Amino acid sequence: MSLALLGGQKCITESFTRYQSIGKEEKDAVLKVMEGGVLSQFLGCWDPDFYGGSYVQKFEKDWVMFFKTKHAVSVNSNTSGLIAALGAIGIEPGDEVIVSPWTMCATATSIIVWNAIPVFVDIEPDCFNLDIQAVERAITSKTRAIIVTDIFGHSADLDELMKIAHKYDLKVIEDCAQAPGALYKGRYVGTNSHIGVFSLNYHKHIHTGEGGVCVTDDPIFAERMQLIRNHAEAVVEDKKVSNLCNMIGFNFRLTELQAAIGIEQLKKLNGFIESRQKAAIMLTEGLANLEGLRLPVVKKNCTHVYYDYPMIIDVKKIGVSRKIIVEALKAEGIPNIGEGYQLIHLLPMYQQKIAFGKNGYPWNSKDHDCGVSYNKGICPVAEKLHFETYLGIEFCTYNMTSNEVQAYIRAFQKVWKNLDALKIY
Ligand SMILES: *Cc1c(COP(=O)(O)O)cnc(C)c1O
Repeated sequence: MSLALLGGQKCITESFTRYQSIGKEEKDAVLKVMEGGVLSQFLGCWDPDFYGGSYVQKFEKDWVMFFKTKHAVSVNSNTSGLIAALGAIGIEPGDEVIVSPWTMCATATSIIVWNAIPVFVDIEPDCFNLDIQAVERAITSKTRAIIVTDIFGHSADLDELMKIAHKYDLKVIEDCAQAPGALYKGRYVGTNSHIGVFSLNYHKHIHTGEGGVCVTDDPIFAERMQLIRNHAEAVVEDKKVSNLCNMIGFNFRLTELQAAIGIEQLKKLNGFIESRQKAAIMLTEGLANLEGLRLPVVKKNCTHVYYDYPMIIDVKKIGVSRKIIVEALKAEGIPNIGEGYQLIHLLPMYQQKIAFGKNGYPWNSKDHDCGVSYNKGICPVAEKLHFETYLGIEFCTYNMTSNEVQAYIRAFQKVWKNLDALKIY
């Protein structure tokens, strides 16, 4: 059969069903909150309601129990959670924070918000997480923290990273937006660093529309995140908080409606993950014979929750560019496949070093010598993946039923059978 890209018949005719994690339980829970009339119960002063309403507090308790952590602080997004976490650890203007360029932009923006300086460090090509040796090489006298993303649903090597953090007295914040429920050495992702930050955004495994949760075993970090979440500057005096560093308050509060949804979503998390893992295993079996296509790596002692299904193509071996492969797969009817991922250091804000105001703050300030480079070439592994070899399926967009996975397999097999025709395309 000839390829759809070359005028043949599409091999996928079925339509894919949008991933839907919300059911009757969430609907009923929301209705109950609506009937009570209290849609949010936070007060931005030192009062019992400083901690939010009963649903928010129950949601946080459930999160603590599930993830086996000491404290959970709900917030209105992972972005807000990262900002609260960095504020809590006492980031100062001009501090350097090491971060991956291969993550969502907010991971690095949270650093800028505190007038600190993101330092982008390259990733490793197996699971696309921070390269631990490169992290150590990038540490300077200004480095104060590392934000590590458990990208695509697979943990970074947190034990090794924490060793380096202890050696240099750094704090580690884990962005686990894409990896809720993934395991690292039997422990949940997010609980192997100083603070873990989850997302409850619509695109993630479980969601509340928008939302997030920070977890930590440290009571001081937890308290400071609660303060930053809810108008710190108006609370510190009555709460008798003496450390005023970064006690700038925001409104990062989750509503009772969202918390009620979150309580139900959390109960379903393991089931959702299992079905995604089953789909990924089926896909991996179906693609295993394709030359020059590297399928997801799952490291020893880790589980993968497949927010994305990451692949690498060996362009030399197959003799066809990634662009044409993706065009051919899309033409067959695959809806959610993408070339490359993210290179945050190449965004205009970093290229021009313009964030607050027009004069280059925070880079251009007496707090920092501004020597940090965001030039193309600073992260060669991530850049090669992005520009040439990485191929990813957004695995949380559709349900990935076994029929849908079989359709993917058909399309890949067909394209690979017809590589010769693509070589002359
Ligand atoms: C989705 C995502 C975020 C942002 O989460 P929000 O809840 O939308 O703020 C941050 N980091 C990563 C890695 C993400 O995937």
